[in-house]
Formats: sequence, structure tokens, C-alpha cells
Amino acid sequence: MLIGIIGAGISGLTAGRILAKAGHEVIVFEKSRGFGGRICTRHSNKYEGVRFDHGAPYISGDDPLFKAFITELTDKGIAKKWTDTFHFHDGEQLYDKHPNMDKKDRYVCEEGMNSIGKYLSRWVDVRLNTRVIGFTYQGDRRTTKRAWMLNLESFDTFEVDAIVVAAPAVQTYGLIENSIDETMFKTIIKDIDSVLYSPKHALMLTYEGADIPDFSALVVANNPVVNWICNENSKRENNSPNTLALTVHTHAAFSKKHVFDGSVPEIVELEIAQQVRKILGDWAGRYDESQLRLWRYPQPGNYFEKDFVELGEDLKPIALVGDYMRGKTLEHAYISGYKLGHHWAKRFSK
Ligand SMILES: Cc1cc2nc3c(=O)[nH]c(=O)nc-3n(C[C@H](O)[C@H](O)[C@H](O)COP(=O)(O)OP(=O)(O)OC[C@H]3O[C@@H](n4cnc5c(N)ncnc54)[C@H](O)[C@@H]3O)c2cc1C
Repeated sequence: MLIGIIGAGISGLTAGRILAKAGHEVIVFEKSRGFGGRICTRHSNKYEGVRFDHGAPYISGDDPLFKAFITELTDKGIAKKWTDTFHFHDGEQLYDKHPNMDKKDRYVCEEGMNSIGKYLSRWVDVRLNTRVIGFTYQGDRRTTKRAWMLNLESFDTFEVDAIVVAAPAVQTYGLIENSIDETMFKTIIKDIDSVLYSPKHALMLTYEGADIPDFSALVVANNPVVNWICNENSKRENNSPNTLALTVHTHAAFSKKHVFDGSVPEIVELEIAQQVRKILGDWAGRYDESQLRLWRYPQPGNYFEKDFVELGEDLKPIALVGDYMRGKTLEHAYISGYKLGHHWAKRFSK
């Protein structure tokens, strides 16, 4: 069977690798230029070797399935153990331990968190920079042998036997709205529309010659703008030793306001940087490079009580996977892709 997967995040790539291992031909269509979706890494424009994990900063697992995947990544040398403790800033003072967070094993990637997506993509054919804008069930009137036609932004089309949509719920909704045969989606579209996301900004800063702070990451409370500061140097040996790299994440309310107001990036950056300086000290206001990224859909606020959604009959299979299935986290995204992958491998075994 030829399976088209929309989205090269952890859910899509995980489903894809299982289906490819089961003997299916899998093509993953990814609109961006990189692998891993929201588990992603950006390079400094100024300092060689300096990188920022500006999406999910680390992985950590409770479920045995995800723990097994983390073990696979560490065995292959892709992930390594990071800190089990975060520092804490209560708005006034910095503490070397968060008062309410238990110790937990957390893992990061020496080469950047996008190594996870790169690793998973080894089993499948990924078409980067390829946005799918909709799909059409070719129905009984079809003259070609495949059930589905994917419509690409480039105006090209691509025929597949089955589709896995592995995009955030909002983008999944958009794809379904653009599909010509909507009948099979009628029951699910309202539920997909009800999954809500709040935006978040990531500000990436570098400081040449600065002392490297002794925290791996700082959870910030009682601040109207910032809720997380990550010391990228604590994650990897090969970040340039003379250049400190910090990734700062904001509160949803702050980002929501700026998205609503249509603020220019310079204003957003200035407000975040002022708070970073307030939290860490004057030196933190003297960064020499910055990059700002707005995440419109960082994590879902609510989710489906299912591991995946399957629609269509045997002749027109289509399924939805992602982090909005049974949870809101990266771990749930992995499990969603994993469970659908095994379910379809069995259902469509040769
Ligand atoms: C700033 C930030 C911080 C986070 N922190 C944490 C955390 O601490 N803990 C945690 O568990 N999770 C965290 N997350 C969430 C975690 O990253 C996600 O839950 C997980 O990566 C989602 O994986 P996914 O496969 O469901 O979706 P994604 O990773 O979003 O993958 C979907 C892919 O589909 C592609 N796509 C969408 N539409 C189309 C289309 N039409 N055509 C082609 N491609 C398309 C997208 O470009 C994307 O690459 C964070 C996320 C962000 C952004």
C-alpha cells in the first residue's frame, strides 16, 4: 500500500516508520524545510556551532512505550541524559531547585532536538517544503488505481492508497475543510475545531564572552512575560564555549495579546528582553544576537480521549494522529503515531 503522511513531526514519522517496516511504501509531506515539527532546532546566524531548541526543549517519559523510544535514542547516541532538576525564580529571587517539581529524567540531543526527527525520517521518504492543501477521495468514478488524491500547494497532485494526517488540530481542520468529499468528516470536524491552542514566543539570545550560568533551565513564576529560560550550553559540548545561548519562552497571555494587537516583532522582543534582564541581571540585557519565533500552536489545551482517529472504510483509509490524542504532550504525539502505525500494519498486512 502507498501511504501518504501529512506532517513530519514525531507522530507522523513514528507512524511512518512502523508502516514502512511493515512493508508499505510511505511518503511524508512536510510543509517546512526541516524534520521533527515542533521538536526543532535553529542555528545562530553569528556563531558557528551555537544552536537553540526553540520548540520542545527536552524529552521525558512516563509511558513504557515512550521510555523504550528514549532508550533507543540514547543507545544510538542521539539523545543523552540532561538535568533532573530545574532552577526556579519566584519573581524576586533565584533558587537552585524548583519547590514543587520532583526530580525526573530528562533527555536532550547533542546536535539539537531536531536530531530526533532526522533519525525517524531514515525509514521513510520525506518531501520537505511540500505543503498539502487538501485531499480528495476519488470515489467509485475513479479511473486511477489509488483511492486518494493529495492536492499540493504547488498545484501538483499525488495519488495514495491511504492518508495519515499528522498535523496540529487547527491545521488538520483546515485540510479537512479543503477536502472535496467531506461526508466522512462530518462527525469529527466539530471535535477537531474544539481543540484550542494558545500562542507562545521563543526568543533566542546569544552573549559572546558571558559567564555561563550554573542553571540548565530556569522556571520563572510571577512574571507577566517570561515563564522559562533555557541555558543551551548545558545541553551540548559543542556549543561555542565562549558564547552563551539562551532560549526564552513566554506566557500564553503575553503572546496572545501581541498576536491580537498585531505587534511588530521588535516590540515583542524588547518586552521579553527587558524581563530577562530583570530576572538574570543587567548583563542579560546586553545580548549580541537575537531571533524571535512565534508559535501559534505550541501545545493543545484539550484533547481527544483516543489514541488516534480512524475514518473511512478499508477502501479509503484515513487517520488522524498527533499530540491532541489522549494528552497534550510530545509523549502523547509519539504514542498516537505508534499505536496507529501498529494498528494499520496489522489491518493492512499483506
Ligand atoms: C515552544 C514549545 C515548547 C514545548 N514544550 C513542550 C514540553 O515541555 N513538553 C512536551 O511534552 N511538549 C512540549 N511541546 C509540544 C511538543 O513539541 C508537541 O506536542 C509535539 O512535538 C507534537 O508532535 P506532532 O507530531 O503531533 O506535531 P508537530 O510536531 O506539529 O508536527 C506536525 C508537522 O506537520 C506539518 N504540517 C502541518 N500542516 C501541513 C500541511 N498542510 N502540509 C504539510 N505539512 C504540514 C508541520 O509543519 C509539522 O512539521 C512544546 C512545543 C513548543 C512549540
